[in-house]
Amino acid sequence: MDPSDLALDPDELRRLEECAREPIRTPGMIQAHGTLLAVDADSGEIVVVSEDAADWLDLRVDEVGIPELADAARTGVPLDPIRIPWRGEPADVIVHQNGELNIVEIEPLPTGAEYARVPVVAAIQRLSNADSIEELREIVVTELRRITGFDRVMMYEFQEDEHGIVLAEDRALELESYLGLHFPASDIPAQARALYLSKLGRAITSTEAPARPLLSNRLDTATLDLSGAELRAVSPYHLQYMRNMGQASTFSLSLIEKGRLTGMITCAHGTERRIPVLLRRSLEVLAGQLAVQSAAMREIDRLRHSVEVRERRGALLAPLFASDDITAALFQGRETILDLIPADGVVARIGPSWRVAGEVPPLAPLGGIVDRLDGTPIITDSLARDRPDLAELMPGVAGLLAIPLAENEGALLFFRGEVTRNITWLGDPGSGNRPEGTSPRASFALWQQLVRERSEPWGDVAEEAVELAHDLDHALSRRAESRLAELAMRDALTGLHNRRYLVERLATRGPVGPDGKALLFVDLDDFKSVNDQHGHETGDAVILEVARRLRANSRDRDDVVRLGGDEFVVLMDGVAGTDVHAIAERLVEAVAAPIVVGTAVLQITASCGLVVAEPGTPRVGLLEAADAAMYRAKRAGRNRIAS
Ligand code: GH3
Ligand code: MG
Repeated sequence: MDPSDLALDPDELRRLEECAREPIRTPGMIQAHGTLLAVDADSGEIVVVSEDAADWLDLRVDEVGIPELADAARTGVPLDPIRIPWRGEPADVIVHQNGELNIVEIEPLPTGAEYARVPVVAAIQRLSNADSIEELREIVVTELRRITGFDRVMMYEFQEDEHGIVLAEDRALELESYLGLHFPASDIPAQARALYLSKLGRAITSTEAPARPLLSNRLDTATLDLSGAELRAVSPYHLQYMRNMGQASTFSLSLIEKGRLTGMITCAHGTERRIPVLLRRSLEVLAGQLAVQSAAMREIDRLRHSVEVRERRGALLAPLFASDDITAALFQGRETILDLIPADGVVARIGPSWRVAGEVPPLAPLGGIVDRLDGTPIITDSLARDRPDLAELMPGVAGLLAIPLAENEGALLFFRGEVTRNITWLGDPGSGNRPEGTSPRASFALWQQLVRERSEPWGDVAEEAVELAHDLDHALSRRAESRLAELAMRDALTGLHNRRYLVERLATRGPVGPDGKALLFVDLDDFKSVNDQHGHETGDAVILEVARRLRANSRDRDDVVRLGGDEFVVLMDGVAGTDVHAIAERLVEAVAAPIVVGTAVLQITASCGLVVAEPGTPRVGLLEAADAAMYRAKRAGRNRIAS
């Protein structure tokens, strides 16, 4: 079973549900090592007591003869614990408010475990010098074990499906290591996780000492919310779990990042062991420091990575804004799409064409899959589990990212092959290892599980592939738009710029620059008769040949424009000091040379109007002036240049 399959296992779900019903906030009992009083904040009356303080029920708190206790109980303000003499020994008093009630807890000081500030401060200082999350974890588990003296300290992290993995551990030599082991989500049910968000540390002192019932003449003690109490009694399921694990006492700390319980630290001991409340508080601070520092490190890593990925994506796609060669951009650059999105193979289907790199399954069935994507990506590291229908069509593929392009017809498909992995559970998580469906695991012997039909998980790569597809889509659309815009400026027959282009160029505001400008307006003579005698197609061939000759005989910097029909314009820039007339003569001669179309040999002449604009004269009116000059050439008998 895969960790993520376990999260869906009916037995595991039932366990989670059952555990979620357990009244862990309101057990009506406390742990045996302390005493609890609930004091009415207004009257100072003790309305709830733990059984060991039954004599005090319904007294006023100032009648019990411990003034420090009475003071603390009346304020209800949580402070550092107050030290009082208690049944002949020193004890810590801790107070917190719960509605109208002030909850007072009395914990006798554990022998030989006085709080010492120095080691905790030193540990916090060590933490602040750590360079990596791994180092942070190591420091925390070793320091915690050193400070608390527990047999084993382990730090674990919850995965997306809430099952946990032990990521750091410090333990007594004789204990077996739990490092790297997995345990199921039901080990820590949902309502326990919720509790750990509000109460950062909890100590379980004994798996054997019977819990102390709470007594009251005013209220049902099974409704008293103990979620803020240090002494809250522990669920019998959990005590059994601890016994099965060989633990007699534990102390756990919550790791909270951005309001989410991301992991826990558990200190466990094979015999009963207690640490004083002030030390527990300072260790909560230590755990908070770990969480804050790891969150910051993770965030820095994430930002650095996302900047880098965005830059690389930009570099990959940049050529597409200038070129249509998608294959060159995606597959042939210094970095390819597979460098950005690590996968065994990729298929880019854009419009009707398929582009492929690396190892990919047979293409034939992929068309249908792309067509059915329906705007939603497929992201899976197990086709067999998530999409058995597709797994059949893609032999050898375990992981698939299929991301549709929204604006262009097509998709990007990334494939990963199977990677078998060994997962070691801390005890077989299945029902075979539980006396009843909801009981804790009987054995915590390591349990190996071979995970098959899985690829390397995609992780952040999935999101990066979605962004890449989005940017590719955008680049292709911008490219298509600019191509359309460019087409609108071109003549379809000759590929020359068209009237619209010329008008836009001449509409540029401001006078002619210092290099001057010239405009040659060319109109073929009696062109209608070419069509009439030889047909429209021959006419087209003549126009094409004239266009070619005008291009070939003008200067590189000149712009040859087909205005429409048999009219052309040669726009000459930078003509100061140039013999424009000579160029115009050359062009007219070039047009007049015989043109062979099939078997026909045609002799075409052109009438031209030439306008030279001196620097500083306005651009507007140039085209009209050249047109007028051309008409003068026509009237003068054609086949000539007028200016
Ligand atoms: P003129 O000497 O006065 O210029 O006489 P013309 O026959 O050349 O008359 P005009 O320039 O006014 O007409 C151009 C003719 O060119 C009109 C049309 O039949 C023909 N024509 C226009 N566009 C095309 C084209 O794309 N292909 C072909 N084959 N003929 C065209
Ligand atoms: Mg003409």
